[in-house]
Amino acid sequence: MLTQETARKWIDLFIEQILENKDYLSELDTAIGDGDHGNNLARGANALTEALQTKNPETLPDLLKVTGMTLVSKVGGASGPLLGSAFIGMAKASQDNDDLATVLEAGLEGIQKRGKAVAGEKTMVDEWIPVVEAVKSKTLTSAFIEETVEKTKDIKATKGRASYLGDRSIGHIDPGAMSSSYLFKTMMEAGV
Ligand code: ADP
Ligand code: MG
Ligand code: MG
Repeated sequence: MLTQETARKWIDLFIEQILENKDYLSELDTAIGDGDHGNNLARGANALTEALQTKNPETLPDLLKVTGMTLVSKVGGASGPLLGSAFIGMAKASQDNDDLATVLEAGLEGIQKRGKAVAGEKTMVDEWIPVVEAVKSKTLTSAFIEETVEKTKDIKATKGRASYLGDRSIGHIDPGAMSSSYLFKTMMEAGV
């Protein structure tokens, strides 16, 4: 269930997961980007720890909003503003809704409004779209989350830095899809 408590647990677990996998995320980004994805998100994760401590947001919309604003303002690179926009979208939706699928859908909308990516361009959107669908149909499993990331290998990038590589982007996992997979795995773990 999506509440302030479960969402706080979710965000705390996500922060941990990002810090643990910082090097791996940057490694993935070295293959098809500029090698900074893990470092970008780790900066965001540390800023988030601090922001949550000092602001201590007590409602679900506030918690999601502080998270979004921090990611937008503290993370260099494309991923921060995009993931931040997801949380800002989720914050707005959570003001009058606690249905997880509806709130996640608003998050996906936030990413797409900001980044203009659609399905099949090898971005985090290729993780978000299938996961939101699975949450809607109540079929989300961690195996599904992993399979979805794996599938980004087959896609040729047409958005973001990886698009500069054209066909050479094929065969590599999208780093942003991987970090979003951590977001969804920790969401399941937190019991959201
Ligand atoms: P940068 O590319 O600026 O160095 P990061 O390395 O932190 O930023 O993030 C790269 C990730 O951002 C990509 O793997 C991809 O998933 C995501 N991304 C890039 N552009 C877009 C976009 N327009 N829409 C959605 N996601 C995007
Ligand atoms: Mg990068
Ligand atoms: Mg960069």
